[in-house]
Amino acid sequence: MPVDQVVDETGATQWQRSPGGLVTALHPVLASHQGTWVGWAGGTGEAPEPFELDGIKLHPVPLSDSELERYYEGQSNATIWPLYHDAVEQPQFRRSWREAYRVVNARFADAASDVAAEGATVWIQDYQLQLVPAMLRERRPDLRIGFFLHIPFPPIELFMQMPLRAEVLRGLLGAELVGFQQKLAAQNFVRLSRHLLGLRYEGNTIDVNGRKVKAGAFPISIDVAEIERLAATDAVQARAKQIRAELGDPEKIILGVDRLDYTKGIELRLKAYRELLADGKLEAPGTVMVQVATPSRERIGHYQNLRIRVEREVGRINGEYGLVGQPAVHYLHQSYSRTELVALYCAADVMMVTPFRDGMNLVAKEYVAARTGAGGGALVLSEFAGAASELRQAFLCNPHDLDGVKDALLRAVNVDRTEANRRMRIMQRHLRAHDVSRWARTFLSELGVPAEETP
Ligand code: ADP
Repeated sequence: MPVDQVVDETGATQWQRSPGGLVTALHPVLASHQGTWVGWAGGTGEAPEPFELDGIKLHPVPLSDSELERYYEGQSNATIWPLYHDAVEQPQFRRSWREAYRVVNARFADAASDVAAEGATVWIQDYQLQLVPAMLRERRPDLRIGFFLHIPFPPIELFMQMPLRAEVLRGLLGAELVGFQQKLAAQNFVRLSRHLLGLRYEGNTIDVNGRKVKAGAFPISIDVAEIERLAATDAVQARAKQIRAELGDPEKIILGVDRLDYTKGIELRLKAYRELLADGKLEAPGTVMVQVATPSRERIGHYQNLRIRVEREVGRINGEYGLVGQPAVHYLHQSYSRTELVALYCAADVMMVTPFRDGMNLVAKEYVAARTGAGGGALVLSEFAGAASELRQAFLCNPHDLDGVKDALLRAVNVDRTEANRRMRIMQRHLRAHDVSRWARTFLSELGVPAEETP
């Protein structure tokens, strides 16, 4: 759920809305329709009672300790996550995880079925809930059901590895509209329906025993105005200057901001930087890299191994190229406030976003939006991030080709200001016209929600 529990001045625990594009986009729609957000509040054991916050109803669904382990860390994040990201890490398949996935999906379907009014619209979000559309349709045929997948949808050969494949596909086909980040993902889905279930389709509309299910691409975005506004505040501008000074006023700051996830290509980026230092094409401390790696899914083996590899690489770079008090790479395994992140974006000359596979990558879009006032800035972007279909003026690279990544980084570091501004302006114009509320509006109107009811 888009809320955090905080302790106020009196020592009482309160709910507070957490920042993020999805909630910003959906809040107005929910608020104007007495809508309810059904979700997991974090934590295990009994769920908090339903409550209201800022005009919307929140309906928490509980997870037990063993469900957290099997449903969330297991089936969602050690089976589906790696499989849908091109098996960058080997997906793991366990029967007990699948069973927990069914149980928890059914619980969400029950909760949605309990709170939805007659004929209501229900919009289900993401890979943790792929069985819910069909489960909910069975319980409540009167509802209008949409589903959006925030991560990639894999090619047929990969999807076919999953023991739960037919159930997941039937689950998704319970929706009237299934949305993806990319056209290719929608195509994968449509073709899979024929391959696995023998269903017919025309264009992107699948015939499920006489019922029509549409698939389509709806690339998600960010709250552009909010990032632009934050970036323009005196506080953020002052903090950006201070960050630069604290880093020793280097000529160039290269920044990476990611969850510490193996899909993000963090190691690869560090290696490209190290090799450029070794080649003498970049110099520390004239150039400094800052890598923010947000702690993520820390109990899963893949993530523990990644952390060891990344931290070893950081140590190696600093060991070889750092000076006393002047590391070549600053590594921050921490969470930050929105203002601190935007200040980092404003301070950075080059942003590196190099995932092996990513549904969209919002960090890339946030960086571009944050550069609106200050000018300058260059984005190095993997072709395998969904954002690359829109941000064509970035320095695009193939993350599987280290020399290509080094070349893109070097071109971004050395780009002249006029050219940097030209590229940024085109991307900023695109983002302003394609912010997250447009994403929500487009999806909901395709689902058949009347225009006056969309954000
Ligand atoms: P993913 O959803 O896979 O984590 P995205 O780039 O699409 O990747 O979205 C990440 C979101 O998390 C962005 O909105 C970004 O600003 C935020 N974020 C990333 N790192 C941090 C951090 N250290 N502290 C706070 N927010 C962060």
